[in-house]
Amino acid sequence: MKAIQSIRGMHDILPDDIHAWQFLESRLRELLDGYGYREIRLPAVEFTDLFARSIGDVTDIVEKEMYTFEDRNGDRLSLRPEGTAGCVRAGIEHGLLHNQVQRLWYQGPMFRHERPQKGRYRQFHQVGMEIFGVPGPDVDAELLAFTARLWKALGLRNLRLELNTLGTPASRLRYRERLIGYFEAHRDGLDVEAVRRLHENPLRLLDSKHPETAAIARGAPTLIEDLDTESRAHFDGLCAHLDALDIAYTHNPRLVRGLDYYTHTVFEWITDELGAQGTVCAGGRYDGLVEQLGGRSTPAIGLAMGLERLVSLLVDQGAVTARAGPDIYLVVPGDTAAGPQALTLAERLRDQLPGLQLLLNCGGGSMKSQMKKADRAGARYAVILGPDEIAAGTVVVKALRDPESSQLTVAQQDLAALMQARLGRQSGGWN
Ligand code: ATP
Ligand code: MG
Repeated sequence: MKAIQSIRGMHDILPDDIHAWQFLESRLRELLDGYGYREIRLPAVEFTDLFARSIGDVTDIVEKEMYTFEDRNGDRLSLRPEGTAGCVRAGIEHGLLHNQVQRLWYQGPMFRHERPQKGRYRQFHQVGMEIFGVPGPDVDAELLAFTARLWKALGLRNLRLELNTLGTPASRLRYRERLIGYFEAHRDGLDVEAVRRLHENPLRLLDSKHPETAAIARGAPTLIEDLDTESRAHFDGLCAHLDALDIAYTHNPRLVRGLDYYTHTVFEWITDELGAQGTVCAGGRYDGLVEQLGGRSTPAIGLAMGLERLVSLLVDQGAVTARAGPDIYLVVPGDTAAGPQALTLAERLRDQLPGLQLLLNCGGGSMKSQMKKADRAGARYAVILGPDEIAAGTVVVKALRDPESSQLTVAQQDLAALMQARLGRQSGGWN
């Protein structure tokens, strides 16, 4: 029988690797709270139609990457490839958007049937942030200030911000026509897919991965000349804010995002240290989407971060410190399971020292093998409760992390006070 394995491109995140994830998630949460974002939890499955109507029919995601299926009722459903569509759907459905300002965030797995490679998976994780009800550019700048602060809080280096504007729908429409004209003139050099998309979604050709189409796209006109006064004012306003905040950026007039719904501001945070999958965070303004999905017209901007890519970068750059081991490893030498005295002592210590990290040796074993386990767990102290100690009402406390590895015997009722003094504030939780 063939062994059952995980699905290609969908990975287990193992306990040895979880620390970097938790480090990232806890820094994120702290900052999200600090900026007034509230968490929203959304289903991982939605009607396929939601994605087709928001992301756009003629996009890589909807055409090629979605996990779509019919459920037992015959409904067409998809695993979510991104979070914005579901967030907007929920906002409309629960009346969160109209005449209100909402700063929302969510996290979770997203699913895209792509070719798996480093930094590109079929199940991956995003943290998304969405702000509804503010036309910007103030809030656009605040969102970018958040990201800049996050990289600093995480200790990440060498991330650069690329920025562009897609303007109002009217300027985009003018640009679209000009772009179709340009690509029509180079039609013979385009790949089949590009020719098919040319009239439906010419902007998509700009970030084509096909080498010949990409070469033609590099010579394509940019949107700058088609920007109207409103679009320019928005973009200039954002740039002025970023300058005032000392946030460096480059204007990349060729930056268009993979989704159809963007207007005005679009941006990406990119690193050169992860190879081709260098975008760790991307987003933009999508003033038309709420209305497009049946709500009342609401300005909005958002972003999504790719957590796998950020975790890779954290690890590569050595930004995560190794996790500390438990405070105490309770060694209970004996052939069989730990006895009631050991369990009682462990539970009493947990009562007395809330927040204590204590690992009880369950399952027995020799003194030597348990001491080895204590060391491997990275414990700061071994507390030993052997038959002699049980008889005497004492324990032996052995410091594992100091070179002299001092050792002393104390009465069990004095253990909590001793450990409190030894561990001090470093163990958190009590003092
Ligand atoms: P790419 O150009 O790399 O395919 P995208 O434009 O499709 O990215 P978005 O839809 O903007 O990506 O998603 C936001 C972020 O989510 C990306 O910048 C990236 O960090 C992450 N991401 C997207 N797709 C994947 C994937 N298949 N595996 C891992 N992370 C991903
Ligand atoms: Mg993609």
